Amino acid sequence: MFRSCCANLIIEADTHKETVSYSDGAFRFENNHFSVPYAGAVIALQQSVKVSAGGSTLLIKGKSPEGSVALSFEKEALLQGLFARVQACATVDIMAETQAIGAQNTADGVRVTLRHRDGPEFSVQGKVAVAADGVNSRVVESLGLNKTRRNFFGRFSVASYHMEGVECPYPEAWVTFIGKGHTLGGRGQLYFCPKPHGGRTEPPVYELTVGVPIAEGSGGITPAAELEHFITKGRFAPWFRKAEIVSRRAATLNFYTPLTDPVEGNVIAVGDAAAFIETYVQGALQYGFLAAEAIMGHLEAGDGFGSYAAAWADSFEYNDPEHIKKATQGFGLHVLKDEDLDYLFSLTRGDDVRGFVNEFSDPDTVRNALLRHIERIRSERPELAATFEKFGQVSVHDALQVTG
Ligand SMILES: Cc1cc2nc3c(=O)[nH]c(=O)nc-3n(C[C@H](O)[C@H](O)[C@H](O)COP(=O)(O)OP(=O)(O)OC[C@H]3O[C@@H](n4cnc5c(N)ncnc54)[C@H](O)[C@@H]3O)c2cc1C
Repeated sequence: MFRSCCANLIIEADTHKETVSYSDGAFRFENNHFSVPYAGAVIALQQSVKVSAGGSTLLIKGKSPEGSVALSFEKEALLQGLFARVQACATVDIMAETQAIGAQNTADGVRVTLRHRDGPEFSVQGKVAVAADGVNSRVVESLGLNKTRRNFFGRFSVASYHMEGVECPYPEAWVTFIGKGHTLGGRGQLYFCPKPHGGRTEPPVYELTVGVPIAEGSGGITPAAELEHFITKGRFAPWFRKAEIVSRRAATLNFYTPLTDPVEGNVIAVGDAAAFIETYVQGALQYGFLAAEAIMGHLEAGDGFGSYAAAWADSFEYNDPEHIKKATQGFGLHVLKDEDLDYLFSLTRGDDVRGFVNEFSDPDTVRNALLRHIERIRSERPELAATFEKFGQVSVHDALQVTG
């Protein structure tokens, strides 16, 4: 794995109209009736902790029946399991280190242009192609769909460190560091959680991730520089005094609105290739499964991929523009002033707040937790109360901090 991904199983029921759980060595998809083997370890995260730059916290306890907010898993273990199953299929050719350059619909199928390492381009012909090449899909770009079916919001750079020897006061938590003062450039936020590593949970390994919007005038501060600053000079640097980095990862994310219609001729875009930001790992599996079912139906009965397009349109939550707005405003809390966040979080001390790690419900969880104190905020900080109450009007671009 070279790509950043916090790899938490989102256990809140009905996420993308699916309820996913882990039991007996598999991720189970209740509504679509399938499961995917997972031979790795999991860590049940008991709380979500939002930490302001001044060190105030908003604590959210797990709302699941087991009291968890999410399950931290090891993506390598999931992928190794899937890969072993693909390798066992006699009908599958695996071409490692081979990039898809683009796809072209033909009269009776599709042609995909490929390149192995630095070798010459070549093409393969098939009846159907599945574009599952992630958030910056070249296949989707080659079909022109980024221009004809999407709007571009902006670009984020991400970096992650996996570290041993961290002294963290929240051992089983999803921690979000929110506020300009956590970062060198005053943009983006950091995520932190324990990760199973090499199939084990001991010695503990923590993952620290930062996402930095790339905007004109952002000063060109790299996410790696932000991570270094955070662990050596930030307010929480003492947690990392004895930390040893065991792996580094990164990603670049182009934020487009989702392809509400993910089918173009004989090409089906699945997972992040069709998404706004992310389907989640479980969403990539869910939509891969649904696409496979639709393809089998089409090959047997020739009825096209309409069932897949309809299932995606109906279930992928970001297809509703309001969800894009709400989710970006949720992590756009960091556009508030640091002292305001310190104050707001401090009001929640001792409150019983329940929720999940889930970008679709978390904004409401936070908002409702703070609204419990709105009378006090109105009397002590009327301007902040007004800003907070108008938070729903912050544009997606401003919430993402992708403007200069
Ligand atoms: C910082 C961060 C944190 C996240 N945290 C979580 C989380 O906690 N939980 C969660 O469920 N999800 C999380 N996600 C989202 C999750 O990573 C994605 O939604 C998920 O991995 C999407 O799967 P995918 O298979 O569609 O794409 P990817 O996982 O990106 O896989 C795409 C694959 O295609 C390959 N590829 C790319 N281009 C080409 C090409 N041109 N030709 C051939 N192959 C190509 C890539 O190498 C890769 O193997 C996070 C993402 C980020 C960036």
